[in-house]
Amino acid sequence: MRGLFEHAGIVAGAVRLLVLASLLGGSATAGRAADVYGNIPEIDDRGREQRPMFRLWNPDPIGNHEAHLAAINPRLAAVVRKAERDNPGLRFVVGSGRRDPALQRVALAWGWSRTPGSLHATGDAVDLWPLDTGGRVTFDPALQDRVAAAMKRAALDLGVPLRWGGHFRGYKGRDRSHFEIAGD
Ligand SMILES: [Zn+2]
Repeated sequence: MRGLFEHAGIVAGAVRLLVLASLLGGSATAGRAADVYGNIPEIDDRGREQRPMFRLWNPDPIGNHEAHLAAINPRLAAVVRKAERDNPGLRFVVGSGRRDPALQRVALAWGWSRTPGSLHATGDAVDLWPLDTGGRVTFDPALQDRVAAAMKRAALDLGVPLRWGGHFRGYKGRDRSHFEIAGD
């Protein structure tokens, strides 16, 4: 039975290591955080538990990134891809791309969108979420500014008319994630 106990001890040790790694905020697997939303404040400005909302909204933003890009306006996707290529030190993912009516209703109900006629419906808008060094989504304004600068530069180079949500009048910080094709 000694061998069995030894095996159990090794498993318990491995579990402890994984728990420790997640407590330290380190990523147990290459480039992928244990919880991609672990950096989001647990409670939002309306007193809601918001991490479950993020998980429902986009269960795997890193894993779904390419599929989301493939579903939006190709000209907008080209701007995103150029911004990625030209800024290898800056990591970001699509938080929301094309939305079907059901998803847009969720966005409206949650207060994450204010307009039923969002350009997300046609794939002419994309929300980009920066990742921190641990691969977790972060809404750090400085990182958002860098994403916006990278997107504006790429759009200019490709001749794509781009509008950034950070300039929309009366919008809150969350819309600093939003980019759309202007008058396409
Ligand atoms: Zn948006």
